[in-house]
Amino acid sequence: MTPPSPAIGVLALQGAFEVHARRLAELGADAILVRKPGQLAALDALVIPGGESTTFLKHLERTGFYDVLNQFVHSKPAFGTCAGCILLAKEVTNPHQPSLGALDIAVERNAYGRQNDSTILTAETSLPGGSLEMVFIRAPRITRISNGIEVLAKRGDSPVLVRQGHILASTFHPELSDDPRVHQLFLDIVRSSTL
Ligand code: GLN
Repeated sequence: MTPPSPAIGVLALQGAFEVHARRLAELGADAILVRKPGQLAALDALVIPGGESTTFLKHLERTGFYDVLNQFVHSKPAFGTCAGCILLAKEVTNPHQPSLGALDIAVERNAYGRQNDSTILTAETSLPGGSLEMVFIRAPRITRISNGIEVLAKRGDSPVLVRQGHILASTFHPELSDDPRVHQLFLDIVRSSTL
């Protein structure tokens, strides 16, 4: 018997949500664009895409989304990319801003400077299948991780793909590369936590 497709929401308030939804659907998930807080109750997991974390925060606070989202990410699988990673982090600097704190890391926003606004790198990863292409766009840098964090890839000395239990985060945009391994990992996390 085929297992049912997990219902994975993609927060669609702003930013790069369509490409995530397409990738998740290609991998067999039921991908749902999420625009209202009431939609979260029906989901198994959520992707928080890249974009601008300050704009996300404004939307979330204005629409009464923040508290529901906060509860969600503390109990169900969530995957944050770039601005999504910033929202999930425990501590944000440059400048300081509120965050959901579901992932015990500190991030520095826009950490690679204007000259390096956008970079494509290939680096080693512990994901099976060899090195991984990573697209960085005004990326944050992870400056601190706690003991419970698993580092799956690095850019130089800085972690760029991390996992803490049901939370996955990348400072790059895996939805912009053809390689589906990062989304596949998230689906595996979702499937193993909804069994
Ligand atoms: N620089 C953005 C921020 O600080 C993140 C950029 C991105 O998501 N590509 O929120």
